[in-house]
Amino acid sequence: MKFVSTRNASLQVTASEAILQGLAPDGGLYVPESFPSLATVNVHEISSYPELAFEVLAPFFEDDVLKDDLAEICIDAFNFPVPLVKLHEKQMILELYHGPTAAFKDFGARFLASSMEKLLKKQPRKLTILVATSGDTGGAVASAFAGRKGIEVKVLFPKGRVSARQQQQLTCWGGNIKAYEVDGSFDDCQKMVKDAFMDAKVSKEWGLSSANSINLGRLLPQSVYYVYASYLYHGAYGVKPTFIIPSGNVGNSCGAYWAFSMGSPIERIALAVNANKTIPDYLKEGEYKPRQSIATLANAMDVGSPSNMERLFNLYGDIATFRKMVSATSVDDESIKATIKEVYDELGYVICPHTATAERVRRDLPSSDDTIVVSTAHPAKFEAVVEPLIGTQIPVPEALASLLAKKSEFKSVGCDYRELFAE
Ligand SMILES: *Cc1c(COP(=O)(O)O)cnc(C)c1O
Repeated sequence: MKFVSTRNASLQVTASEAILQGLAPDGGLYVPESFPSLATVNVHEISSYPELAFEVLAPFFEDDVLKDDLAEICIDAFNFPVPLVKLHEKQMILELYHGPTAAFKDFGARFLASSMEKLLKKQPRKLTILVATSGDTGGAVASAFAGRKGIEVKVLFPKGRVSARQQQQLTCWGGNIKAYEVDGSFDDCQKMVKDAFMDAKVSKEWGLSSANSINLGRLLPQSVYYVYASYLYHGAYGVKPTFIIPSGNVGNSCGAYWAFSMGSPIERIALAVNANKTIPDYLKEGEYKPRQSIATLANAMDVGSPSNMERLFNLYGDIATFRKMVSATSVDDESIKATIKEVYDELGYVICPHTATAERVRRDLPSSDDTIVVSTAHPAKFEAVVEPLIGTQIPVPEALASLLAKKSEFKSVGCDYRELFAE
């Protein structure tokens, strides 16, 4: 299986090459040149999630140097449960927040880290991952790479702009994970990362690489849980489910479309967004207009220019096809709050602000049967928003609690990238 750039189909690489490069040299994103069919996978004979992941991903690694490592990578990366919970009758919730940092980003970050560690063993070299974060991404990446041999991670976060629990998840690792508090905004952090990559001497000397959400190594594993949940649902009820997905950069939903392209029993895929309405506006107006993001309660979805749209356009290029395949609905902060409260009052179930956007979309459907709302984070990560609404404390999951108890360590820096490499 080869992967091609969204901007040039003749630019072909293997999965490992795409994982190490991140972005294609022409600035495009890597996508599979074609999709393997799940028809050859006997889904019902598979006994564990890592085994399913291996079967689904194997065709993508067929002629890759990681081929013989894939089974081990899946066991290493997906070492936590993936429950499909019945919320109410034929309305399900897919809880993707049982990984070490309590958000779905653990799937992609752990698969990427495990793949990179294996690659490094085969081709030893210095590797430094630079990552700027506005909150969730940095924690998942730091956790996934902690203790990995031969890889150093530098995480940059904007001073005073991440929540206390998010900051703890960025700064509690020590060892090969270095955290930097930047006296500036998230955009300043991103600029420092870009500047470092542009500095050929620093980039070569440190073996710089990135772990951001456009990396193929984060995308591919995000298709597996859609395969898993759709077969599980279809097996139990004989009906194909519709997925409703809280979306920002559209990496998570891109995984769903890839699962659909492989032949998963999926009826429809619906995106829920917050007040950042770039995609709903495109569906309405037919003209794509990326813009600045605005701040909302579902902050991990505050994206005005979703980077993975380029991958969706690659699948469904013209607006007519796009409208047929994609629906997207915007949910504002007031509705997010009301939905968190409504679900708790009715069902005693607590959801995070991101999950609430998708649950709102479900509740506004003409019929909400045969739907799976994707839950992207544990509500305890957003306790400052959720607890006042439900009037009670949310028990902190064990994995998160153990991180919160660790010692926090970071270095304060200005906005000059060279400070990151002065040791
Ligand atoms: C990152 C994130 C999202 C958005 O996912 P995308 O892949 O960027 O669309 C939604 N919810 C949570 C909790 C996240 O951390």
